[in-house]
Amino acid sequence: MRPEALFDYFADIERLPGIGKRNKQAIERLAGTRTRDLLMHLPTGLVDRRYRPKVRDAAPGSIATLEVVVDEHLPPHNKRAPYKVRCHDDTAELTLVFFHARADYLRKQLPEGETRIISGKLEHFQGDAQITHPDYMVSPDSADELPLLETVYPLTAGLSGKVLRKAIHAALETVPPLPEWQLKDIVTREGWPDFLSAIKHLHSPSGPETLAPKSPERRRLAADELLATQLALAIVRDRTQKKRGRALKGNGHIRGTLIGNLSYSLTGDQEKALQEIIADLESGRAMLRLMQGDVGSGKTVVALLVMAAAVEAGVQAALLAPTEILANQHLETIAPLAEKAGLRVEKLTGRNKGKHRKEILARLAAGEIDILVGTHAIIQDDVQFRDLGLAIIDEQHRFGVQQRLALAGKATAGIDVLGMTATPIPRTLTLTAYGDMDVSRIQEKPPGRQPVDTRVVSLDRLGEVAQGIGRAVQAGQRAYWVCPLVEESEKLDLAAAEDRYRDFQHMLGPRVGLVHGKMKGADKDAVMEKFQTGEISVLVSTTVIEVGVNVPEATIMVIEHAERFGLAQLHQLRGRVGRGAGKSTCILLRGNEIGEVARARLKTMRESEDGFLIAEEDLKLRGGGEILGTRQSGLPEFKMVDFLEHADLIELARDDARLIVNKDPELKSERGQALRHLLYLFERDEGVRLMQSG
Ligand code: ADP
Ligand code: MG
Repeated sequence: MRPEALFDYFADIERLPGIGKRNKQAIERLAGTRTRDLLMHLPTGLVDRRYRPKVRDAAPGSIATLEVVVDEHLPPHNKRAPYKVRCHDDTAELTLVFFHARADYLRKQLPEGETRIISGKLEHFQGDAQITHPDYMVSPDSADELPLLETVYPLTAGLSGKVLRKAIHAALETVPPLPEWQLKDIVTREGWPDFLSAIKHLHSPSGPETLAPKSPERRRLAADELLATQLALAIVRDRTQKKRGRALKGNGHIRGTLIGNLSYSLTGDQEKALQEIIADLESGRAMLRLMQGDVGSGKTVVALLVMAAAVEAGVQAALLAPTEILANQHLETIAPLAEKAGLRVEKLTGRNKGKHRKEILARLAAGEIDILVGTHAIIQDDVQFRDLGLAIIDEQHRFGVQQRLALAGKATAGIDVLGMTATPIPRTLTLTAYGDMDVSRIQEKPPGRQPVDTRVVSLDRLGEVAQGIGRAVQAGQRAYWVCPLVEESEKLDLAAAEDRYRDFQHMLGPRVGLVHGKMKGADKDAVMEKFQTGEISVLVSTTVIEVGVNVPEATIMVIEHAERFGLAQLHQLRGRVGRGAGKSTCILLRGNEIGEVARARLKTMRESEDGFLIAEEDLKLRGGGEILGTRQSGLPEFKMVDFLEHADLIELARDDARLIVNKDPELKSERGQALRHLLYLFERDEGVRLMQSG
């Protein structure tokens, strides 16, 4: 159960004073529905309004706060001209300028003859001081309504900074302080405020230094978020490993046959990963390992050899994939090889129903299936193995902890778990994402791959590029066309993709397909299949192309508005091509208005195909804690951590988490109780739920 002190933190923001329905929806889009979400929506900058010169002395271009007397309203002569209000102080005149003004409102705000404090960006126009659309206009007795240090927040359409600030400050009034969960020694050494004080200071900073990543407030919150993550991981690991593993030692005969039948030899990295994993299988402790390697690096073959080793040792193995397409693909790669080596392979997905499903389950329970490949369907309660000893989970971040444990629950003894991911993650982040999981990396690509020719082309040339695709398709090639990411709106995403789809239909007739996120799984699969068989030559899509989808005949990848994508995502998308014998091309269409970071990203893409290098670069470019694309990468979401600036805190959190789990695995001590607050607050509470289920 969630600790009582957190009640107000998780209360709906509706309860806060002054939040209307419209604002609520906007805040929800931006931060979330609960008070905690609002509190954790931290400012990204400050407007300093402490500069309070006389009008004559005010520097043009500066944000100035001026005390003036209102002299005269000058309504415009025509609709396009601005409304002006003339004011003065004892040194000079100041003109306030408003476009599309409402006269009655301005007359109320700025009565002639009264004194007002005005804050905004001061400019000189034909030698006279003026402020266009002042940010603040207040009377001297409500001067405290004007924040001299004004926090700036990421905003969304329909929500003003003023409303958001008010909501946040209202929220701050409703929540109690929480017990200290960090080690007292560290708190003292680092000079950290407690959690709530840190949050409060950040929303009312005493200067830009409070918001800097190195401030005690920012470091404290980063440390909290990291500790919550590491502790949850440590608890899960502790539980998984409490069931003792068993030593699975095969004699190598199936593996020998498999390897003998391969038309290639394993790369050095594949060999190394295989050995590391086999060593885990053979040891008496339960394996918890992750195999990381780019798309096409040859993880599947390694997975097959590992499963063969388990079967040699007398147990069954399961290979779990996040989608039907991926499960099929695994089966296609694995089945021919496996069957030649005498392995009995079966597939189980949501599509298996009724009698057929029953029959599979019966054979599985009788031990007549050695390797079961499938989707979530494998996890269902009535799926019973005779003796499941190894579970391999592809794209493991797409499965929750609960699902992983459900799979582990199908084993009578401790089970060996191998995760696989095609998302390369920088070394520093591996610890954060996977905690104490052991990691095998496959960095080297199988020989004979042709590099993908990557080009950055201006969107102005879209027509030309599309024509080029048309010609290539006539000559028998296949192409992906990925449509731009439109922020915050799946609807717009779809509209863009549909437009492009029609363009190509115009050019190529029925040989064009469209897939998008709103489609049902089966419909999507059907289109994908047509692309695989070649019935369709151009596949237009939003960004839903599944990780790991394999169409070796596809040789062209076009990404519209490539500057809007994160590096990891661009890399994943490009990974769809360059898989066959043909020479492949990736065209990154970029918009004209493009920032420095986006430019650097595209440059990295042009220069490298090494997923790990790209991941490191991505981390550097992201800097400021803004972790784009975390959803794709499988990292838990981090709000507080800046992985460059707070790198030293990662290990600190890991070590602390380990100690906690060793000393107080049930979180029963005083600090343990405090830590429960932490886990819930940062929504890393799977660990706590696990402890309760025993
Ligand atoms: P991943 O699962 O990592 O995306 P796959 O296992 O699907 O990669 O491998 C991609 C392709 O490379 C497959 O067609 C596979 O047969 C082939 N392959 C794997 N290992 C090697 C190797 N050592 N040498 C040559 N080809 C290989
Ligand atoms: Mg694969």
